[in-house]
Amino acid sequence: MPTSKEYGRLRKRMVAEQLRERGISDRRVLDAMAVLPRHQFVPKEFQKHAYEDRPLPIGEEQTISQPYIVAFMTERLRLKQHHSVLEIGTGSGYQTALLCHLAQYVFSMERVSRLAEQAGRRIGDLGYNNLDIHVGDGSQGLPDQALFDRIIVTAAVPRLPSVLCSQLDERGGLMILPVGDEDLQELKLVARRGDRYTSRTLLRCRFVPLIGRYGFDSDVKSPPTIF
Ligand code: SAH
Repeated sequence: MPTSKEYGRLRKRMVAEQLRERGISDRRVLDAMAVLPRHQFVPKEFQKHAYEDRPLPIGEEQTISQPYIVAFMTERLRLKQHHSVLEIGTGSGYQTALLCHLAQYVFSMERVSRLAEQAGRRIGDLGYNNLDIHVGDGSQGLPDQALFDRIIVTAAVPRLPSVLCSQLDERGGLMILPVGDEDLQELKLVARRGDRYTSRTLLRCRFVPLIGRYGFDSDVKSPPTIF
C-alpha cells in the first residue's frame, strides 16, 4: 500500500495531467481536488488505483466517477461559497465532499443505504459537517428543501425531469446531469431564469442509471466498468 505521502504525489500528478492539461482551470476546483483524499472513497483493494484516469467499482454495482468528469461537472456548476446544492447519487461520497468544500450546504440523496452511511462517515471523518444525506429516490428531488442554487445528478436519467428543474433557484440556478439511454448519455447544463429554462449539451458520457420514478426501472443493468 502506498503511504499517504505517496498518495499526495499521485494526487498532484492527477491534477496536473488529467485535469489541468485537459483544460480544467477553475482554481478552487483544482486546489480542492489536490487535497481531497480520493483513495479514502474507494474499497481497499482499489485504493492504489484511486488516482488513475478511470471510474472504479464501489460495490452495489455502482462506480466512483472518473476524476476528470468530477472536475468537469464541478467546474461547470460555477459554485460559490454561499450556494446550497442538491446532489443526486451520493455513491462513494467523493463528489459530495468536493461540493461540501466548495459550497455552503449540500443535500445529497442516495438510494442504497449502505453507500449513504459509508459516504456520510467518510465525509464526517474529513471534518465537513455542512451536509445532509437522504436515503431514498432522488429522482424526485427534495421539494422540502428547495430551491437550490445548484443541482448535480451523478447517474443517468432518460429525460430531463421537470420536477428537478422546478427546484432550481429562479435567478440563475444551474443543474448538470447526464441524459440519455442506459449505455450512452449527453451531459447537459440547464439554467433557470424565472420560468425560462435553457439547456446546453456539453459532452457525451457514460453513467450508471438512476433508478426511480423519473429514472430507469430497477431491472436495467448498470454498464460494466471499463479497465
Ligand atoms: N458521484 C458518485 C457517483 C456514484 S454512481 C461517485 O463518484 O461516487 C451513482 C449513484 O447513484 C449510485 O450510488 C446509485 O446507488 C445512486 N442512485 C441510483 N438511483 C438513485 C436514485 N433514484 N436516487 C438516489 N440515488 C440513486
